[in-house]
Amino acid sequence: MLRVVESTTELRVGLDAERAAGLVVGFVPTMGALHAGHASLIRRARAECDVVVVSVFVNPLQFGPNEDLDAYPRTLDDDIRLCEQHKVDVAYVPSPAEMYPTGDPEIRVTAGRLGLPLCGRTRPGHFDGVATVVAKLFGAVGPCRAYFGRKDAQQLVVVKALVRDLTMPVEIVGCETVREPDGLAMSSRNRYLDPDDRKAAVALFRALEAGRKALADGERSGPKVAEVVAATVSSERRARLDYAACVDPGTLDDVVNVDGPVLLAVAAWIGTARLIDNVTATPDGAAIQED
Ligand code: AMP
Repeated sequence: MLRVVESTTELRVGLDAERAAGLVVGFVPTMGALHAGHASLIRRARAECDVVVVSVFVNPLQFGPNEDLDAYPRTLDDDIRLCEQHKVDVAYVPSPAEMYPTGDPEIRVTAGRLGLPLCGRTRPGHFDGVATVVAKLFGAVGPCRAYFGRKDAQQLVVVKALVRDLTMPVEIVGCETVREPDGLAMSSRNRYLDPDDRKAAVALFRALEAGRKALADGERSGPKVAEVVAATVSSERRARLDYAACVDPGTLDDVVNVDGPVLLAVAAWIGTARLIDNVTATPDGAAIQED
């Protein structure tokens, strides 16, 4: 039976008992508007853990002043149904006041250098907001394992650094990106796309495929591969490129000469939706799925 819990104290008391009984707690943090991408993380947690906790919290701290905090889709009833279908044990759904009782938290976590490139350029402070809420969620849930999607590759790098640098006893599990049949990465923000924009949105995936093909054809210049990705996005007239990059998957530094695995990452606006996607590839362009 799914327990829907709003109170952090109630959550903690319940999970304390389960941890004391020696059960492994798995955790999937989300912002709701759940889709098949989230479901794949939940399925993995269900297969690997005794107790599965899913949080649904749209975190104000990770949205900039002109971003889509108010418009972000909120579909809690459907989210709870999806949790029930996937045999989740606890849905943790704190209100903003429950999460941030003083309003603006005094103590925050910074993502440091890892929060600056890629999405950090357009979304200053975003990864500090992510690191802060993930630290708080880990404090509330006390998971043994936490599941994050590789679709948000920079977020995954930041969260791995968070648990390493703040010595948090959590194993971070990165999960493969779930895509629509045409290749578009599933995202809660895909709901913003009208039918024409939806068709155009596949440009991000195509661009990453073009980047991989450039590697497969022998290109070894990181900036040239990034340029291929950028040009492919820009050839879609409904798309407005934010960035295309070829970076080190661990440090997120730009790669000049491709002689090891690279992260090809892209962000673009399609209509009002800002979409992101990425692929990790070997120097000869083969996609790498695991961590
Ligand atoms: P969000 O609700 O967008 O904050 O996402 C919650 C978690 O689901 C994050 O770890 C995301 O990386 C992951 N996620 C979102 N979309 C996908 C997807 N298409 N495939 C795999 N994981 C995803």
